[in-house]
Amino acid sequence: MRPEILFPLYAPVTSLKGVGPRVAPMLEKLAGPIVRDVAFLKPHSLVRRTPATVSSAIDGQVMTFQVTIAGVERPRGPAQPWRIRAFDQTGFISLVFFGAFGSGLEQRHPANALRVVSGKVEQFRDEWQIVHPDYLLAADKAGDIPDIEPIYPATLGLPARSVRRFVGEALDRIPELPEWQDAAWLARERFPTFRAALARLHEPQVEADLSPSSPHCRRLAYDELLAQQLAMAQRRAERRREPAARVAASQVAEKIRADLPFRFTRAQDRSLAEIRADLATGERMSRLIQGDVGSGKTVVAMCAMADVAAGGGQSALMAPTEILARQHYETLSGPLATHGVGVILLTGRDKGVPRAEKLRALASGAVKVAVGTHALFQDDVAFHQLQLAVVDEQHRFGVSERQRLQTKGWGTHLLAMSATPIPRTLELTVYGDLDVSRIDEKPPGRTPVATRAVPMTRIGQVEQRLREAVSAGAQAFWICPLVSESEFIDLKAAETRAIELQATIGPSVGLIHGRMAPAAKDAVMAEFADGRLSVLVATTVVEVGVNVPNATIMVIEQAERFGLAQLHQLRGRVGRGRQESACVLLYDAPLSETAQRRLDILRRTDDGFAIAETDLELRGGGDALGLKQSGFPDYVFADPFTHRDLIAAAGDDARLIVGRDPDLKSDRGLALRVLQDLFDWKAGLGLRDAG
Ligand code: ADP
Ligand code: MG
Repeated sequence: MRPEILFPLYAPVTSLKGVGPRVAPMLEKLAGPIVRDVAFLKPHSLVRRTPATVSSAIDGQVMTFQVTIAGVERPRGPAQPWRIRAFDQTGFISLVFFGAFGSGLEQRHPANALRVVSGKVEQFRDEWQIVHPDYLLAADKAGDIPDIEPIYPATLGLPARSVRRFVGEALDRIPELPEWQDAAWLARERFPTFRAALARLHEPQVEADLSPSSPHCRRLAYDELLAQQLAMAQRRAERRREPAARVAASQVAEKIRADLPFRFTRAQDRSLAEIRADLATGERMSRLIQGDVGSGKTVVAMCAMADVAAGGGQSALMAPTEILARQHYETLSGPLATHGVGVILLTGRDKGVPRAEKLRALASGAVKVAVGTHALFQDDVAFHQLQLAVVDEQHRFGVSERQRLQTKGWGTHLLAMSATPIPRTLELTVYGDLDVSRIDEKPPGRTPVATRAVPMTRIGQVEQRLREAVSAGAQAFWICPLVSESEFIDLKAAETRAIELQATIGPSVGLIHGRMAPAAKDAVMAEFADGRLSVLVATTVVEVGVNVPNATIMVIEQAERFGLAQLHQLRGRVGRGRQESACVLLYDAPLSETAQRRLDILRRTDDGFAIAETDLELRGGGDALGLKQSGFPDYVFADPFTHRDLIAAAGDDARLIVGRDPDLKSDRGLALRVLQDLFDWKAGLGLRDAG
């Protein structure tokens, strides 16, 4: 139930004066469907109206003049404007209007009438003029013209002045709301009340008032962040309250670990310890392992699955594509089976009797680990005792898909894995409802990928070198970006590139793109993985995480168009073995300074977290990192970069609140419920569910 105090804010925009059936769609497009959205519209700049005389007018400035009307000149021809001639003691000025007025202008502004007029002055021929003045009022109404006004994003057909009026009215509908922030924190941050902060947003006095670092903007950002973090923290707490199987660390897992031809890195040890601590509590685990491609997430998950199997339970490892599932199966089945843990692979390809046999083994509990794709959560798949769901590249699945898998068991522990590096500062905004383990250390013995930025003009040399490398047995990825509005055009570009490379290199050049059917994609990927193709031209991102150890060259066209995190992930597909690998970033010259610096980072480091952090800094947030894709929320007031200190504070605050007052029953708790409704962030309701 929404608190009554918020009802006026949830009224449709049509309840605002002057918003009828013609205006409503435009306002909805600009702001949103309800009054709250209009009050939350942010001005992007302000206009200062300078009082002036005609002789002191400055071209392009917004100015206000006291004038006497001389007369109205009718349009001289079609498409010509109306001109009201006016003057003050220092000179003449024309007020220009396009449109049909009949005798309206003459009636409203007769000769000798005294007027105050305000708008942007421009020099036209040797005279001053104002085209469509913002204000043209009787002289005694001069007080109605504000000296300073906020400018809102405009939309065609909806004049700035109307938007301003609607915002003003929406603002008037906002009641004084109960304070949901901690008093000490408010005092420390010098935050105004919510209502005062919003009012200030709409009445900027100086440019600094529009800055996201101003106290009132920070207050609004913090409110928004806290509302979201609170929902995340509640979700996390809810999951933890669900009872789940208690799983102990096992001998089997330790034996498997000892048999591996390598030792865990400290980061892998730490992650496994964190998972085991969760599994031992008897509360449901919701944990994410974050780590670069190749950082060794899968083997950590394997140990957890071995623990579960040792206790008699089952695990499922779900990957977004068949080829990834197959690779996981190949990695896991040997070590697990050697120690008596049965593993099956289940994908869309399994049909008929073999599939039925696999399903029987899962249902009876004879098999303890199932690796697969979407096939794992189909209706007729039943587990004997599913206790752990491992989801690789978790953001590639929908919430309901992940849930369908988890509901195959009872209180199923969740272990998600992601290779999308997210700056530490933003982790809470995306994964606030999960506990996060970070593998921020690479297994030893990897040779860094030699990375070079090369202008497109030298593509001929790159192709030449590629041909030499390929004839010496190397394999390469060649990535063409999706950049134009039309996927069709991008696809053509990739096809053209593939044909060109076939001409220089030979028939072993393959093409893979997003429009291909999954089975066809898998087939091409498999040919490349088997070495039957030497060069793979790809439009969309090559399946994240695909392991082709022999691939040592990565060429990326128009690298400047990609997000750094994406470039980093692409590069992560080579350099997986001990051989020297190379990454060539082809760019269209000239590069902007920022673009130059961005590509430079890639040459300097291969730490995905550091890269993501720097990218955020260089681009100052926004969707630079493709954050939306990885589930970053669409904030109104909060800026992921400027307000990163507030994200951390809101995260702490939220977890503290949920710890002390889980049902939000205290006075502050009740006020916080209003906050959650105000921003539409509620646990369970419409909340993007990371797990
Ligand atoms: P991720 O799932 O993070 O992409 P994987 O678990 O698939 O990474 O590991 C990538 C490769 O590195 C695998 O071949 C794996 O056997 C190997 N590997 C994992 N951990 C280590 C380690 N600590 N030392 C050496 N090699 C490792
Ligand atoms: Mg992986």
